[in-house]
Amino acid sequence: MQTVNRLPSRRTLLGAVSRRDAEWDGLFIVAVRTTGIACRPSCPSRPARPENLEFFATLDAASAAGFRPCLRCKPDQQAAEPEWWPRLVGVVDSAGSARLSDNQIAAQGFDSVRVRRHCRREYGMTFHAWVRARRLAAAQHRLRDGAPLDRVIIDSAWESHSGFREAFSRLVGAPPGRARGGEPVIAATWNSPLGTMVAAAVDEGVVLLEFGDIARMERQAPTLRRWFHGPVLAGSHPHLVQLFGELEEYFDAKRRDFTTPLVLRGSPFQLAVWHALRAIPYGTTCSYADVARAVNNPKAVRAVGSANGKNRLPIVVPCHRVVNTGGKLGGYGGGLWRKVRLLEVEGVKV
Ligand SMILES: [Zn+2]
Repeated sequence: MQTVNRLPSRRTLLGAVSRRDAEWDGLFIVAVRTTGIACRPSCPSRPARPENLEFFATLDAASAAGFRPCLRCKPDQQAAEPEWWPRLVGVVDSAGSARLSDNQIAAQGFDSVRVRRHCRREYGMTFHAWVRARRLAAAQHRLRDGAPLDRVIIDSAWESHSGFREAFSRLVGAPPGRARGGEPVIAATWNSPLGTMVAAAVDEGVVLLEFGDIARMERQAPTLRRWFHGPVLAGSHPHLVQLFGELEEYFDAKRRDFTTPLVLRGSPFQLAVWHALRAIPYGTTCSYADVARAVNNPKAVRAVGSANGKNRLPIVVPCHRVVNTGGKLGGYGGGLWRKVRLLEVEGVKV
C-alpha cells in the first residue's frame, strides 16, 4: 500500500491538528520534536508550536524516527471494535427483555463504563438507546417479512404494547401497522487508508458511502429515512461486509471492479451521469465534457459537474476519474488529496 502513504499538505495537517479533528485520526501521526511524543490529530493535550511539529503517515514511521506514543491519546491503540463487543451483541439479542440494566451487563462480565463509552463514540447514543434501536430494527425487518404485528410485539419483549408502538413510531416515523413497506437503513464504518469511511445499506444494496464517521452521516439520515421509510441504525449488513472487503482489495490494487449491489437514487439526469461514471475504465480519466457527451447532452458540462458532486457512492461510482480539460484535477467532495491518492492507487500519473 505504498502508493497511498503520502501525506496531504502541511497546511492541511496543521489545520487538522489545530481543530483536533478526530476525522483525521488513523490518517496521520503528529509528533512533537521538543517532547519526543507522537499523537493522534485529535489529541486533547495542549498543541505545541507549529514549527515543532513533524508529521508521519503511520505510527511505525514516527517510532522509527524516535518518537514514542502519547499516553493521553494512545495512537498505538486501535480504535477498532473491542473484542468483547460481538459477545455483548449476542447477549443483547438473546436477552428476553427490552431493557438491560447495568447490573445485568456487569453480571455477564462487561464493564458498563466501557460499554457506554463505546456506544457514545461509535454510535453517538447511550447503550440503552442502542439496545432499543436494535430491537426496533429487528421488529421492522420481521414486519416487512410478513410476521403478524402481535407476534412481533410479544417477541420484542417491550414493557407494554403502547410503549412499543410509541417507540417504534418515534424511531421509524410511522406506526408499526403502516411500516410494513419500510426497512431500516444499516450504517457501519470502515477504516480506509484515506481515513474513516461510513457506508449504509438496505437489503437491495448499498445506498451511501462517504468519508467521515457515523456522526457525519446524520446529515444524510433524513433523506435515507424518507427514501426507505425506516430508521438509520448502526449495525452490520452483508452488503456492507462485501463492500468493505472489496474496498480493501481496491486499495491494495487487487480489484478493479465492484460487484456489491448499489441503490442509486436521483433525478433521471443524475442517474444517467452516475451510470456513465461507472463506465469509465479503471486507471483512466476523462473530462466533464466527455461525460456530457456520454449522456447525449454535450452542452450540459456544468450539470455533469454538479451531478458528479452529488455522487453518494464515491470510489464505487468513480467520480474521481473525471478531471478538468487541460490536465487540472478539478474538485473532489472528499478533498483533492484523496482524489490524487485514488488515482495513484489506480496507477494514473497525477
Ligand atoms: Zn496525544
